[in-house]
Amino acid sequence: MPFKPANNIQDLQYFGEFGGVNPSISDSSTYTFLSAKTMFDTFEGNADGCYLYSRHSSPSNLYLGEALAAMEGTETANVTSSGMGAITSVFLQLCNAGDHIISSRTIYGGTYAFLKNFAPKLNINTSFIDITKLDIVEAAITKNTKVIYCESVSNPLLEIADIKALSKIAKRHNIKLVVDNTFSPLSISPAILGADVVVHSLTKFINGASDTVGGVVCGTQEFINELRNVNDGASMLLGVTMDSLRAASVLKNLRTLHIRMQQHSKNALYLSQKFESDGLKTVYPGLKSHPSHNLFKSMMNIEYGFGGMLTIDVGSLEKANKLMELMQQNNLGYLAVSLGFYKTLFSAPGTSTSSEIPEEEQQNMGLSDGLIRFSIGLDADIKRTYKMMRSCMEKLEIVKPKIK
Ligand code: PLP
Repeated sequence: MPFKPANNIQDLQYFGEFGGVNPSISDSSTYTFLSAKTMFDTFEGNADGCYLYSRHSSPSNLYLGEALAAMEGTETANVTSSGMGAITSVFLQLCNAGDHIISSRTIYGGTYAFLKNFAPKLNINTSFIDITKLDIVEAAITKNTKVIYCESVSNPLLEIADIKALSKIAKRHNIKLVVDNTFSPLSISPAILGADVVVHSLTKFINGASDTVGGVVCGTQEFINELRNVNDGASMLLGVTMDSLRAASVLKNLRTLHIRMQQHSKNALYLSQKFESDGLKTVYPGLKSHPSHNLFKSMMNIEYGFGGMLTIDVGSLEKANKLMELMQQNNLGYLAVSLGFYKTLFSAPGTSTSSEIPEEEQQNMGLSDGLIRFSIGLDADIKRTYKMMRSCMEKLEIVKPKIK
């Protein structure tokens, strides 16, 4: 039976305390106990169903966590105050001083900066490699390697990780495979393909409203318990807790994710095909020209498509900036970082979300100056959007006018 992530979310039933169709929001940081003994037992982790203090867990956070675990097919999940809160606590839980991480070299700039600049202060060192080359991944493993880290669809180059193959390598060497699935929720289910831990920035498609930051770690009950442990759990001790009010609002948005992803994917596929036939260097996993198009197809939950992210290369940063400004003036989207909004968002990653990566390394990995990253919106009339985008490109002589 194919895995049905959206059905799994919808099959969950949470009722409010007065029979509300939405669960009640737990607007409390602390919880009373009828007996001191139960409080002690809760502290020790031995009183199931009891809440102690909301940095540890709260009903609203558990509801959202369980829905995201159902989406990813993991035993459970822990929601966090941001995607970076999720990612950094996973690294710090899995690695001790002296340990080693293998990471894809094309990842979100913040994650790259953490691994490159921050983790070495704790003597945790990272080899950045081309994750699409499995022999290079294997060759980078040392006796201290604890984690292989990648994004299912990488930010911003849209490289695709072969999660099944990476999982086999990781298992053979007793290493954890951690996958950031922010760019491809519902479309790809990394845990089903063998990832040990799946993280997301909820800030993006999952919440979809660009009104908050948030994150999640999906994994086994054992690992999530470790993250929440009062004595040495990274989530608990670093305090990367999501607020209950926000957890309740993200849960409501999560329930329409499948419809939004279908529309993001449909619009992105249409635009990528048009841009490519206009002669623009276009990268989108749904295009046959994408080097990992077949790999994506072999991993995907077909009904959600190839996702909402695409890139084009317009040749220079100057042209990229002019085009983005002109598209914004024409209300075709916003010149903004982030992704997953109803409106198209565009930015030049080299000078924004990937600016943490030194210029020389950007060049080595193929992150060119003229690259524009698009998060395609939910536009009702994508044909009209395309025509207007094309006319902006004609004006700036990025594409030649069509001969009538
Ligand atoms: N992972 C990816 C792929 C991202 O694009 C981002 C942010 O842009 C993050 C993680 C970090 O998430 P947050 O901004 O919610 O901390």
